[in-house]
Parts: sequence; C-alpha cells; structure tokens
Amino acid sequence: MKKLTFFILAAFVAFGNLAWAQPYHVVIKGGHVIDPKNNINGIMDVAILDGKIAKVAKNIDATGARQVVKAKGLYVTPGIIDIHTHVFFGTNMDQTYSNGPNALPPDGFTFRNGVTTIVDAGCSGWRDFEAFKKQTIDASQTRVLALLNIVGSGMRGGKFEQNIDDMDPKATAEMAQKYPDLVVGVKLAHFNGYDWTPTDRAVEAGKLANKPVMIDFGGSKPTLSIEELFLRRLRPGDIFTHCFGQLATREPILDVATNKVKPFVWEAQKKGVIFDVGYGGISFAFSQAIPALKSGFFPNTISTDIHTGSMNNAMKDMLNVMSKFMAMGMDLPSVIKASTWSPALAIKRPELGSLTEGSEADVAILDLQDGKFAVRDTGYFGFFDYTGHKIEGKQKLTCEMTIRKGRIVYDLNGIADPIVVRQRAQ
Ligand SMILES: [Zn+2]
Repeated sequence: MKKLTFFILAAFVAFGNLAWAQPYHVVIKGGHVIDPKNNINGIMDVAILDGKIAKVAKNIDATGARQVVKAKGLYVTPGIIDIHTHVFFGTNMDQTYSNGPNALPPDGFTFRNGVTTIVDAGCSGWRDFEAFKKQTIDASQTRVLALLNIVGSGMRGGKFEQNIDDMDPKATAEMAQKYPDLVVGVKLAHFNGYDWTPTDRAVEAGKLANKPVMIDFGGSKPTLSIEELFLRRLRPGDIFTHCFGQLATREPILDVATNKVKPFVWEAQKKGVIFDVGYGGISFAFSQAIPALKSGFFPNTISTDIHTGSMNNAMKDMLNVMSKFMAMGMDLPSVIKASTWSPALAIKRPELGSLTEGSEADVAILDLQDGKFAVRDTGYFGFFDYTGHKIEGKQKLTCEMTIRKGRIVYDLNGIADPIVVRQRAQ
C-alpha cells in the first residue's frame, strides 16, 4: 500500500512538474510592447502557447518555456500587415505581375521585415486566382491574402489591362465569395484613359461581394477627378492607394500651388475612404507627403507596393517606408498602428493586427536604431524618393525577430534561447 501511495505521489509530482515545466512555448521578456488595438504602450512580456497569444502582462514567469526571447531595449509589436504587395511570381516572362517575373515570392522579403501578413494587390483576376492560390498562397509561410483584379486575367500588362470587356463584376464577385478567407476585396489598377467604366465595374464587384475596393487610379489625360472618385464613386471603407503620388496623369491630393491638402480630401477621409501609401516605384513623392503630414493629414495605412522594381529603388522594404514616415514627423505608435491594426481593419480582418489574447501569434520584434548606427560620419539615415528629394532621419527601424503562428521564423542576432527547438509533436 505504501508502495502504491508512493507511486501515485511520484506520478502526481512528475505530471505536475510537466505541467509546470512547460506552461508556454515562447516567452518574450522585457520588450516595449506597442499594441495599438489594445492601447498597450509600455514594458510588457508576451507569452505564446500552441500558436496563439496566451498572455500579455508584466513579469510573466518564463520557467520551463521552450524558448525565451530577450527583448530588452526592443519593440514588440503585432506582426506587420502590408496591404499592397505583388507576389504572383512565375515564369511566364511576358506577363509582368501575373505569374511573371516582376512579382516576388512572399517568404523572400516578409519575415526579414517583421511582416507576417500581406495582401496581393490585383496580380490575379477571377480567371487565374486559383493558379495564384495553388502556387503562391498555399505554398507560403507568410499569410497571403488577395485583392482580385477587376480584369479577369489580372496584371498581365499591355493590352490585357486595358480591356474593359474583361472587367466582369459578377465573375469577380463569385470568385471572391468562393474564397472568403483569402479574397479581401477588389483591385483596380493600371487602366489608362478618361473613362469611369473600370472604376464603376470594380465598385460594382465590391458591392456584389460585400468587400472593399482598392483603387490605383492608373493614368489619364486629362486626369479623372479624385473629388468625383472620393465623394461620389467610392463607399466608406474603400481604399485609395498611392495617396502621396504626384504624376501628370493622376490628380494629387495636395494642391502643389498652395501646398495644401484639398478640402474634399479631408472630407473623404472623414467619410471613411482609406488613404493607403502604396509607395511603389513612382507613386510616392515627398513633395506631397511632407506638406500633407505637416498640416495633420496622415495616411490610414502604410504599405509598400513591393515588386522587383520598387524594392531596389527608393522604396526598398516595409521598415524603410515606416522609417520614412517617422523621419517626416509621425510618431512610432502611429506608424505601428498604420502598419498593423489599421490595415487589419481596412481589409475587414479584425482578428489580425493585434496581440489580443487568443489571437494567432504573429509578432514582430523591432529595433529602433539611432544615430550611432547611421551612415558613417553623418549621424543620420538618408531617405530619398524617386525624384531625388532626400531627407535626413535620426532613427531607423530594423527587424530583430519575426514570429508567425507562434513559431520563430526569423531571428537576426540569435536572441532566442535556445535558438533551435527540437521538433516535437504538439
Ligand atoms: Zn501595385
């Protein structure tokens, strides 16, 4: 009997120890958490269990955790969401962004930037979305969502994107509704011409699918009126991307003669039109953004419009674009909000973009580097746009670690302890 009691006791202690030994899979210790949705901005620990955020609190006990991350001096934020990217990469060399060479494989640029969710902005349309899903969405660790191009064959370039006959609202909406977890809206892009039909068809598809549209206003001479677009064609919640562009073929939001944001633009933002950066190759100019921000007009969402061209030009990557907005005077919490919680809301996915307990554990750990890391002997970081306009910044965001679904997928300096966990069944 004594033997049995001892055995039961021993078993109890052993199991008890197991339960205590591994309460969490990952604990991030001592970082400065910025979680705009939950109004958190201070030193906190973050605990992760079974791929989900288990707890955000001060002094979480990390005893027995599989991995402990020392984040002292670093910022801990929700995984970054970039709602304007181009990732339908492929080998059809004449098809530009649609299964072609101008688009990028997601995991090749996301995790090294703290990005865990991206939205492909119209590379595919209803005709080729399923090919895109199979070869990119399903094959990526990054969460990839999509805006369906109103053009059935997506961004194939040239005459394909000018073909109004291939802009079918019903077929587009049907494909969007077939994949409600993946398709977050409809995209208009690259149409050239003084014609409202493409805009109206995109909005019609958005209405049929009950999803927002993202408008890249292409090009037109004379330019199409953005006042007409914002106040009469778009619905609250629709997205205007490339909002700080300044091109002869697109009406800008800032009057370059007076350096003032046009009155109807304020009205549009108040009405609920989402102003998205969509930086891109030539779709962002400091001559628009600096006076706009100075007068208090901020973008709702920060995004890259990343592709093989923009990433090797002025844009570079998500953290560089975020750092540019800090250099223009936007504070860090606002920049984080415009790159996490606000884009989650813009794509109607409120379960993303925060560190809410119970949500999927997508986390970025960022370093805000100061002058001593800057360009040698200058004390500043240089930020320029495609026109050659350069500004100086004292700070720059870099990525130390990215966690996707509770798993460390990027660790720049080995701040996880241990760095590698032996795979085991969960
Ligand atoms: Zn784009």
